[in-house]
Amino acid sequence: MRLIETRGNDGKKAPEVSFSEAILSPMASYGGLYAPKTLPKFDEEFLNSHLTSDYKSLAKDVLKRFDIDISDELIDKAISRYDEFDDKDNPVPVVKLEDNLYISELFHGPTRAFKDMALQPFGVILSELAKQRGERYLIMAATSGDTGPATLETFKNKENIEVVCLYPEGGTSDVQRLQMVTEDAPNLHVLGIKGDFDDAQAALKSLLSSKEFNEFLKRKELKLSAANSVNFGRIIFQTIYHIHSYLELVRQKAIEMGEEIDLIVPSGNFGNALGAYYIKKAGVPIKKIIIASNENNILTEFIKSGVYDLRNKKLIQTNSPAMDILKSSNVERVLFDKFGAARTKELMESLNKNLYYKLTPDELKEIQKDFDATFSTQKEVLDTIKEYILQKNYIMDPHTATTIKAFKEKNSQVIPMVAYSTAEWTKFSPVIAQSLGLNVTNDKEALNLISARFNVKITDKIVNLFKKRVVHLKIIEKNNIMRELIDILN
Ligand SMILES: *Cc1c(COP(=O)(O)O)cnc(C)c1O
Repeated sequence: MRLIETRGNDGKKAPEVSFSEAILSPMASYGGLYAPKTLPKFDEEFLNSHLTSDYKSLAKDVLKRFDIDISDELIDKAISRYDEFDDKDNPVPVVKLEDNLYISELFHGPTRAFKDMALQPFGVILSELAKQRGERYLIMAATSGDTGPATLETFKNKENIEVVCLYPEGGTSDVQRLQMVTEDAPNLHVLGIKGDFDDAQAALKSLLSSKEFNEFLKRKELKLSAANSVNFGRIIFQTIYHIHSYLELVRQKAIEMGEEIDLIVPSGNFGNALGAYYIKKAGVPIKKIIIASNENNILTEFIKSGVYDLRNKKLIQTNSPAMDILKSSNVERVLFDKFGAARTKELMESLNKNLYYKLTPDELKEIQKDFDATFSTQKEVLDTIKEYILQKNYIMDPHTATTIKAFKEKNSQVIPMVAYSTAEWTKFSPVIAQSLGLNVTNDKEALNLISARFNVKITDKIVNLFKKRVVHLKIIEKNNIMRELIDILN
């Protein structure tokens, strides 16, 4: 496959690149992103030929159709990471919750959040490519809780990769923090920042544009890449489970092959939804991709009105923190796919300059052909969690809860819907406890209470976190990040 740039080419970078080039250096001209030049077909014939495939064979064939410049051996090695999920024959269970509502559980990997779906194989590929080229890469991540643990987990002890992870002190759950600060490997560096997620992210951005820091990296012969969903290497692995979910509904006889379904995607940076968009375009029978948000409902507003408006918006800290995002990076790839590079550049420049852009009525219609949207308040999230625990004995995390509101609002009772569950409840147990009116002060207490009351087992990966030694103790002022990193990387 070839990838081209969402904001056009500046004459300095190559006008198109291969898959491996795009994942090693994900930054395109004018601050844009790389996006596929053309998409393969995932038509009925492809789907039929995979009705009895397991997840890994499907993954392999999807990657083959994208025609990426990665050897078969390396692809096999990357997707063998799904063997480490709870059930290696079925890493993504799709469970029927009620008529027309199927939950596709993306959280059965090592860090119990959907980030593992892509980051596990992605880490193998990035490290191997770096090794083959004899290059060393620095991955820097600012995290509000799920990207950090999944990035550390996939890159620990990987050759030719150094990882720096910044998290807001006090801004993550205990489980998320422990998943980072107990992750012990010489190439992993984890720092708590005094401040919130915005501070951590701003610190990272200023570092990336600092001349001094970039010169330091050059001297150390360290190149920068990225492991968030601006990297197309993440997105490609986030197409597979959408196809898998469709096939599961056929297998479970919820639909006949060829019938349409809706997908409900709890969204922040829009990487998960973008994967769905690509496979819809490639031929999988999806009627609508429904974007579920929390009170930071900028995506709902955008999809309903065609206006992306950051003016007078302040980030609200909600009980579904992985979706507390206002600048949703991957919307840009949809704009590019539909309206081309010139228009995308214009819109993104307007967003940077005026904090605002507006689609034409025709453009909005184009977006609405594929997408619909709604959001949940924090109270609706709590009510949904409680309702499904008490009535269906199903414990869902707060991000998943936002999809249920969308289901109730949109379901016409004629078309089955797949809602994505992006985290295991154990990562957000104090929110579950709160929804039930239980008074707890920390994750450990909440986990124990809930598991006893509902007779659910907590995986060893979570239980053991509380026994592991904390190896990353540093909490620093945000102004000291550069000095600290230069020390560490020296
Ligand atoms: C990252 C994340 C999301 C948002 O996914 P995007 O691809 O950024 O839209 C939703 N839920 C959870 C639990 C996450 O970790």
